Amino acid sequence: MKKKTLVLVGGGHSHIYLLKEFGLNPNSLLNIILVSEYKYQFYSGMSAAYLEGIYSKDEIRFDIEKICKVSKIKFIKNKVVEINANEKYIMLSDDKKIEFDIISVNTGSIMYGLDIKGVRDYASVIKPLENLESLREKFISGIDKRKNILVAGGGAAGFEIALSLKALSKKLNKVVEVTILDSNSEILSKSNKKIKKISKKLIRENKINFLANKKIKEVFKDCILTNEEEKIPYEYLLWALGSSSSNLYKKSNLKTDIKGFLQVNIFLQSNEYPFLFGAGDCISIDKYKNLKKVGVYAIKESKILYNNILKYLDGKELEEFVPKKEFLSIIYSANKTGILNYKNITFNGKIAFLIKNYIDVNFMKKYK
Ligand SMILES: Cc1cc2nc3c(=O)[nH]c(=O)nc-3n(C[C@H](O)[C@H](O)[C@H](O)COP(=O)(O)OP(=O)(O)OC[C@H]3O[C@@H](n4cnc5c(N)ncnc54)[C@H](O)[C@@H]3O)c2cc1C
Repeated sequence: MKKKTLVLVGGGHSHIYLLKEFGLNPNSLLNIILVSEYKYQFYSGMSAAYLEGIYSKDEIRFDIEKICKVSKIKFIKNKVVEINANEKYIMLSDDKKIEFDIISVNTGSIMYGLDIKGVRDYASVIKPLENLESLREKFISGIDKRKNILVAGGGAAGFEIALSLKALSKKLNKVVEVTILDSNSEILSKSNKKIKKISKKLIRENKINFLANKKIKEVFKDCILTNEEEKIPYEYLLWALGSSSSNLYKKSNLKTDIKGFLQVNIFLQSNEYPFLFGAGDCISIDKYKNLKKVGVYAIKESKILYNNILKYLDGKELEEFVPKKEFLSIIYSANKTGILNYKNITFNGKIAFLIKNYIDVNFMKKYK
């Protein structure tokens, strides 16, 4: 029987699982190719603690090229710029074409607001997480001259980063002013009341300012301009707004949700093109439109994605992905502490970090 080509686009949290499983259970009918923009894949859950200096770079990233080699999967370091589902090929940034029989996408999300004038020129954007090392270096090397730190975005990422940078400056015996700015009226606006209460207390205790209801209109070299024409100065601007979609799916004329995330069904499969699968931040499941863009779902989806690709190949009935309504979430709150939330339990402290560290380190170990 002729081999089929399975192309995996992006080496995100879901595809990492596939790489490992296909390595452990080689499929003689499949020729597998992974295309990723980067050789390494960073684990976001550990990124704020990395900025603070708790973890090293190698502790928070996988070497996907190496994992592919071990799993006998072809690795191509490149960016996919188009998916032609009608003719079944992808285009790479250097105009190379790769044909496929089955394709799976796990390309994550980009930071919201990158199209705001000046952002790409002046802001240090958290994503892609490959930027983390240079962000950390810039913060440390400029700490004596850049003392006014502005974090755009008061969601989990911005909150974690603001606290971690404040903790790092203390460790370096330096004093910096950290401000979080958000278009919402509260920090962690999407979280429950208990988390909000704890987070407000933490930013107060750490003398972090919070500027509410500020929508950024433009970014200049030394200040941002809000929709109300207010100028807010900064010396170092970190961009940590929420998730947005890249233009890959719209540009490829694939069905997307209103935000540009690839539309899939409960089997993580495109309705129009049944050979197209996806998982993680880059998809929007028609039955669960408002699913949070969190790594937890990308990881939970990975097993279904793997099973469904194999079932599709065998012409078997596919498995349904059912997201859990409640899952354990631990937001890193610097100094080896965290805010844990599970069902009705919410608390802050070292125990939360110990649990988070255990989960994260074990996740990393699985793929090292
Ligand atoms: C600072 C921060 C902290 C976070 N902390 C947590 C947390 O504690 N817990 C949690 O659950 N979630 C957390 N999140 C959210 C989490 O990062 C995302 O939900 C998760 O990364 C999504 O995983 P993914 O597999 O969909 O994509 P990603 O992990 O983003 O991986 C996508 C990969 O695809 C590659 N790629 C993208 N486009 C292309 C292309 N065109 N061609 C080739 N390759 C491409 C990218 O370079 C990337 O390597 C955090 C996010 C941030 C920014």
